[in-house]
Amino acid sequence: NLNERLERSFKLLKGQGKITEINVAETLKDVRRALLDADVNFKIAKSFTSTVKEKALGQNVLTALKPNQVMVKIVHDELAKLMGGTHVDINTQGKPAVILIAGLQGSGKTTFSGKLANLLKTKQAKNPLLVAGDVYRPAAIEQLKVLGEQIGVSVYADLEDKNPVKIAKAAIKQAKANNNDVVIVDTAGRLAIDEAMMKEIEAVKKAIDPGETLFVVDSMTGQDAVNTAKEFNDRLNFDGVVLTKLDGDTRGGAALSIRSIVNKPIKFVGTGEKMDALDVFHPDRMADRILGMGDIVSLVERAQEQFDADEARKLQKKIAKNQFNFNDFLSQISQIKKMGNLKDLASMIPGVGKALKNIDIDDDAFKGVEAIIFSMTPAEREEPKLINGSRRKRIADGSGSTIQDVNRLIKQFDETRKLMKMMSKGGNMSRMMGNMG
Ligand code: GDP
Ligand code: MG
Repeated sequence: NLNERLERSFKLLKGQGKITEINVAETLKDVRRALLDADVNFKIAKSFTSTVKEKALGQNVLTALKPNQVMVKIVHDELAKLMGGTHVDINTQGKPAVILIAGLQGSGKTTFSGKLANLLKTKQAKNPLLVAGDVYRPAAIEQLKVLGEQIGVSVYADLEDKNPVKIAKAAIKQAKANNNDVVIVDTAGRLAIDEAMMKEIEAVKKAIDPGETLFVVDSMTGQDAVNTAKEFNDRLNFDGVVLTKLDGDTRGGAALSIRSIVNKPIKFVGTGEKMDALDVFHPDRMADRILGMGDIVSLVERAQEQFDADEARKLQKKIAKNQFNFNDFLSQISQIKKMGNLKDLASMIPGVGKALKNIDIDDDAFKGVEAIIFSMTPAEREEPKLINGSRRKRIADGSGSTIQDVNRLIKQFDETRKLMKMMSKGGNMSRMMGNMG
């Protein structure tokens, strides 16, 4: 179980004072193994752990937090990001809105069709029509009818006609006449991908031009789920994924891999056979579920806010004493980067926003500056006055920049330090940083 595995690996870090390459290595190895065992694609697991490592080492300054807490938060956020970051709704526009359901046999299409109709009816006051497009098995038509009756939603079926394109078109016509605002077209699947099935569903899609095509996949099929998703997407270019049977003994890997492989959002998860066992998919909630540690995440968020306030206070003191150095400068840069887009940030500062409007700044703006500072020795960062001519040359060579670049940075730094001291009474850090760009 992915949840338990991750929990165990975080425990390893519990007694540690701070995150280091060495003590985080074992945890990362465990995280990677847990992901692989959960059937997460190898490449994804690898890049996932290297991102987590990078972030974890970069977060060392968060002394208020225990390393395991920091790791949980980082892993949580990266998991959510891997699953798409934010929730994406289905399209229910159109008169009527047409939703096409595709997937292999047994994936849960018919069940999902019923659940979706039920959700739209009860939560969004829609008046859906279900369409029995699985024309090959009378039992499939009967199954949809039973579901429709159960949830009080009409079902369009035609036992004589064996042409799903015709059936779907006729159903949409009926929906218009009967004021059904959503039409959900259930279709036939095969046990494995086959050309006839693909052609048929392509033809249905072309004929009815749905506003939303959903691909339904059994999450218990692990890596196969991802492969099937890829093949369906190549043919159908669907709009979203429905992961079913997440209530079972599923390892959750499909949820983590599908998004990055087919680049389509997961929109729903099925969690049981009953008509109300359907969850709207939210990446962050799914990450909570995978980690089973919702509380820690908010705890860490609060601690981070706290950290930023503490740091700011310390910095104010240093500035007042003219002790601001290149290490502080670096940590300011990383703070600013953490806050996201520089331009957005700058525009929140009164007076600065307008001045910066036509200037192009992006997160790479500090790259050269950071490279130069990284090439300084710790002593030089602490005491910029040490940096004489020969040191400047060494720093320039080490950072792949020119002596002029280094000179310019040091000059800017000196000026900023002066400016900061002057402003330190009513000081505004961000305004000063604006000067550095
Ligand atoms: P279809 O062939 O794609 O239409 O699949 P069905 O809707 O007929 O579902 C196949 C089987 O999976 C049925 O026995 C369903 O009850 C079951 N099923 C579908 N979705 C879920 C789910 O989310 N959880 C569980 N436990 N069973 C499900
Ligand atoms: Mg079916």
